[in-house]
Amino acid sequence: MKSPIYLDYHSTTPCEPEVVAAMLPYFTEQFGNPSAKTHARGRKSADVLAIAKDAIGALINTSGASLIVTSGATEANNLAIFGAARALKSSGRNEIIISAFEHSSVTKPAEALANEGFTLRVAPVDECGFICMDALEKYISERAALVSVMAANHEIGTIQPIAEIAALAHAKGALFHTDATQAAGKIPLDVMRMDVDMLSFSAHKIYGPLGIGALYVRTTPPVALEPLMFGGTQQQARPGSIPLALAVGFAKACEIASVHLRQDYESLNNLGISLLRALETAGVRFALNGAKENRLPGSLNIRFSDIYADDLMLALTDELCLSSGAACTNGLRKPSPVLKAIGLSDDAVARSVRISLGRKTTESEVLHASQQIANAIDRTCQAA
Ligand code: PMP
Repeated sequence: MKSPIYLDYHSTTPCEPEVVAAMLPYFTEQFGNPSAKTHARGRKSADVLAIAKDAIGALINTSGASLIVTSGATEANNLAIFGAARALKSSGRNEIIISAFEHSSVTKPAEALANEGFTLRVAPVDECGFICMDALEKYISERAALVSVMAANHEIGTIQPIAEIAALAHAKGALFHTDATQAAGKIPLDVMRMDVDMLSFSAHKIYGPLGIGALYVRTTPPVALEPLMFGGTQQQARPGSIPLALAVGFAKACEIASVHLRQDYESLNNLGISLLRALETAGVRFALNGAKENRLPGSLNIRFSDIYADDLMLALTDELCLSSGAACTNGLRKPSPVLKAIGLSDDAVARSVRISLGRKTTESEVLHASQQIANAIDRTCQAA
């Protein structure tokens, strides 16, 4: 068993060996800039990129032509929120609606738009971790420019009813964007069926390379986006040379995710159940934050009765890779906005640990990890 045991797959995932193998030639012998169309090498790179983009798009049932390649989901979210809102401002649509537990790469751009004069409305989520649809519907007015609600939450894994939310936004003539960074590759996503206008996702969450992501942007009818950066003409709303090798790796990761989707879903679900059972058997007192159903498989957020998250992580820092779900801002511990949004007290948040399992997690790892958690709690209780 590898040590430390990695239980933080929502943070990032290791590249699949096939992903690395697919990328390698494009760093060396087959290097090229897809925009350098005056020579054969550039044109060949453009052809490879087009094939890679189609393979990336296939994961969400679209073609490569409707994707903007970005550096990751943070950039994709920023481009979607700033780009769409600013492009619509002159039309008189000046309201942005997001949910209360979005990732900061959605929240911060939305707050920045509020400083630019947009009205920001934040729709509440319930204690199970689902958006309150009635409140959301009331928040979307005829002046709404954009609604953005994530497909699956990064801390508690709850899956939102994206097609229904898109329909609410469209009923008022607003655009709809979803941050699908945690959902992509884990649950089926179909931009046509969900009828979304924009969708963000990222390679490094699905066993692809860090440093590349994509924004799906509907092409019919087209969605206007104001660029965030200026310079080249590579992709209209997003200038800059496209990293060919990373795009090839992202494409391979998407292909593997499609093939493994059902199998991964079942095995992660079973591993999650095993972990919770093993904790129970070891006598650990805990509760699961968020709903049990409609949740990403292997996405656990556990509130411990007898230990604080920081103490547990410190006790097991060399053995287990865990995350508290608490953001660290300027050296100050800030309670997780996600857990606060679902109504947890500061004390409950401080006792909560995010455990995210992945394709490489084994049954023996989860059993071993549960025992180590139980032992750490025993040691801490005895010391107190
Ligand atoms: N959205 C969500 C829901 C995420 O979990 C993350 C990564 N933590 C991001 C956006 C940002 O993704 P990236 O690391 O690709 O910028």
